[in-house]
Amino acid sequence: PPAMKRGVRGAFIPPIKSGGTAPRKPDKGAEQGGDEESEATRKLLESLAGPDGELPDRIKNIEPRLLEHISNEIIDKAPNVTWGDIAGLGHAKKSIQELVVWPLKRPDLFAGVRSPGKGLLLFGPPGTGKTLLGKAIAAEANATFFSISASSLTSKWIGEGEKLVRALFGVAGCRQPAVIFIDEVDSLLSQRKSDGEHESSRRLKTEFLVQMEGCCGGDERVLLIGATNRPQELDEAARRRLSKRLYIPLPTAGARAAIVQNLLQKDGLMNLSDSDMDSIRAKTKGYSGSDVKNLVKEASLGPLREAAMMHGNIDTVTRDQMRPITLSDFENALHQVRASVSPDELLAYQDWNKQFGSLA
Ligand code: ADP
Repeated sequence: PPAMKRGVRGAFIPPIKSGGTAPRKPDKGAEQGGDEESEATRKLLESLAGPDGELPDRIKNIEPRLLEHISNEIIDKAPNVTWGDIAGLGHAKKSIQELVVWPLKRPDLFAGVRSPGKGLLLFGPPGTGKTLLGKAIAAEANATFFSISASSLTSKWIGEGEKLVRALFGVAGCRQPAVIFIDEVDSLLSQRKSDGEHESSRRLKTEFLVQMEGCCGGDERVLLIGATNRPQELDEAARRRLSKRLYIPLPTAGARAAIVQNLLQKDGLMNLSDSDMDSIRAKTKGYSGSDVKNLVKEASLGPLREAAMMHGNIDTVTRDQMRPITLSDFENALHQVRASVSPDELLAYQDWNKQFGSLA
């Protein structure tokens, strides 16, 4: 997407469209924002308009620049992640399938006593596949995927986060089935109020809880997924609304091997023996999924560095001159890329899981 420029007060300046002014959809309440709108926003407006070309009431008054932001930065058109792309986590996948994918697909079967929870919390160390799971859920359920980091609501949209939240839930409600994925949800729903909680962040939190209540209840097919590395920060109200809370732990040895294998295979670089894999499995204990990914990246540079050295530079190196990636590339890489999560942190997640987790 084009780089976004903001003025001093965070006002959004829409990117100038080269082809002149696009026709506006009706948005009577909007006074702000330029006349120009991007292709993405125009398409979004088209997809939201009813058969009569009118926008539904709930989103009629959204300012164009908010829609612009949602269409450019928050909607992910086609998250093409499948369950198969996510190594391990069989338990989480299975319950997600039942708890959220089925109800999104077949709300008629999940009425009454079977009605699903209002929101899903994925918690655990960073880089363990929480975002991947969110995308896979959206893809599995053929849902529109909205993804936003809560810290951007509190930092970039100072004082305006509420409006954006309202707009986001409004648009999601018009694009059902929808999945709203909120990364770092703790920074939005944190229980720390003590000295520093500004009036504006309190309002943002309240608005968020209200919108959640509205969107995720009843027969709306909107699922809210919160992800956090700091579940301890969530307060009771947040926990209640995110009623399914799944621990997404570090990958098992088998899952780590699968991540290595998948990454190398994708690029046609898999040349490791079973005993090499055993060794990598054993030496990556405590690594998160993204640690493993970084390890593979680092190891994959070994042959490249060597070829560049032999040639004296990189200019003339060709792919077929590079030797395959070996165990010793991994051994070197293990010195560069260490596990990012400490055992203490893991214990804290496990404790929280015991106390508040859904599958503990
Ligand atoms: P987070 O839990 O912080 O949301 P992500 O889902 O963004 O983590 O994962 C970061 C990256 O790490 C992914 O893009 C992927 O490459 C890798 N990764 C993490 N966990 C897994 C997993 N279980 N299977 C495959 N890849 C993973």
